Amino acid sequence: MQTYQLYIDGQFVNAQSGAWFDSDDPFLGKPWARIAAGSAVDVDRAVQAAHRAFTDGPWSKTTATARGRLLCRLGDLIARDARRLAEVEVRDNGKLFAEMFGQVSYIPQWYYYFGGLADKIQGDVIPLDKPGFFNFTRREPVGVVAIITPWNSPLLLATWKLAPALAAGCTVVVKPSEFTSASTLEFVGLLEEAGFPPGVVNVVTGAGAETGSALVDHPLVRKIAFTGSDTTGRVVNERAARSFKHVSLELGGKSPNIVFEDANQEEAVNGVVAGIFAATGQTCVAGSRLLLQESIYEPFVEKLLALASSARMGNPMDLQTQVGPVTTLAQYRKVLEYIEVAKAEGARLLMGGGPAQRPECGSGWFVEPTIFGDVDNRWRIAQEEVFGPVLSIIRFKDEEHAVALANDSQYGLGAGVWTADIGRAHRMAERIQSGIVWVNCYRAVSFLSPFGGYKHSGLGRENGIDSVREYLQVKSVWINTGAPTANPFVLR
Ligand code: NAD
Repeated sequence: MQTYQLYIDGQFVNAQSGAWFDSDDPFLGKPWARIAAGSAVDVDRAVQAAHRAFTDGPWSKTTATARGRLLCRLGDLIARDARRLAEVEVRDNGKLFAEMFGQVSYIPQWYYYFGGLADKIQGDVIPLDKPGFFNFTRREPVGVVAIITPWNSPLLLATWKLAPALAAGCTVVVKPSEFTSASTLEFVGLLEEAGFPPGVVNVVTGAGAETGSALVDHPLVRKIAFTGSDTTGRVVNERAARSFKHVSLELGGKSPNIVFEDANQEEAVNGVVAGIFAATGQTCVAGSRLLLQESIYEPFVEKLLALASSARMGNPMDLQTQVGPVTTLAQYRKVLEYIEVAKAEGARLLMGGGPAQRPECGSGWFVEPTIFGDVDNRWRIAQEEVFGPVLSIIRFKDEEHAVALANDSQYGLGAGVWTADIGRAHRMAERIQSGIVWVNCYRAVSFLSPFGGYKHSGLGRENGIDSVREYLQVKSVWINTGAPTANPFVLR
């Protein structure tokens, strides 16, 4: 078994308790690595190291230009090692090598983009209305940032936070998911080679309730950048509020993929399949509700079933595989439970509906890609996030009805609209309550474009130029250049 230690102050170290936990390979359904189980003591060591690096270490004296160069060098090293890092991610989360290699190969762009941005973070000179004063603003890093990530895309989602945090001049402690910690620990080995001083980035692995909450509660942490479920996000937000920490939250979704009768049906079928069965449905933006115009319901469903039922399952390392296993045993059980919930609610099972018992799936945690027809949007299967390969099809009459159904959700992360009518595309983009709307495409992301949710799907935005502000605070500086001494008892 491979062994992974914590990374604190530039050193790989054991947890102080000496405890370990196993990380499973979802394709084999058994452990492949041992990870150090960090506790509150280790969290404190990591946060103290990050705090020293922020206040006294060489990082605090590194110019923004030099920070940017370090980020770019890190990007180059990730590009060099993309295959190795992607293989570790596949081992841990069971997602397709093709998907993870694509993701890891794209990650350097975030380090180049935010590396370039580092020395363009500027304050303003304020054209003050009061003579005799010079007033300017400084944009300062918030301090130590806690980055907490989920199991589905560990390095990509850590990068979305790490690159802007480092560009801003913050230091960081990362707590990856206890189910997929290995790739983050492989990745931090590149920091020293890139030239980052010790303590700037630290990693403490362990369970959410113990390690994660110790990080959220630590008094020297000033900002929490979290991706995960809305249930955990709520707890993190409430606890962070006790010490007035900055918080950004990327949470779950129940995203509608809306197909109108005028859409190119072949393209839309591809987009619907990509939205729910890519990554075995384990993406926050999974298009888990297909809203289908009733005039094309039958022919579209026929085409959809033909494509979805041809999906090849099996070893995620095999480039021919299209649907891999579910990442954790608990999640595998949860997906199967939701399938039973949908059946009990009266949804019509059109495809799948249980564990995959194909020989190519071996002893892995595989669920058959599942499609339910005639779903009522009020049912649990249409309102709760499954986070697996389960699609619910809901009929709509017209545009008005589609908007009402799309917005009848506590979530608001992504939405797809398939139509040939440009006016309708714009109307839908305006009326749908979600942070991302894709028209005639689905599940596209870029370092340049803001990503985040409305309603219970989160707070704040990642990616794009403004996301660096999540790691900055503004100071207003007043300099008296000759204003006469005023009456001390009234506001100047
Ligand atoms: P999760 O909420 O169970 O765990 C996320 C992280 O929080 C893990 O590292 C976990 O250890 C930690 N954690 C758990 N309890 C904690 C606590 N009390 N204090 C601090 N940290 C704690 O989520 P998951 O099951 O790992 O991931 C799946 C969820 O993530 C889904 O809901 C999915 O939609 C969401 N997600 C969102 C996005 C997005 O960008 N919006 C992207 C990917 C995944």
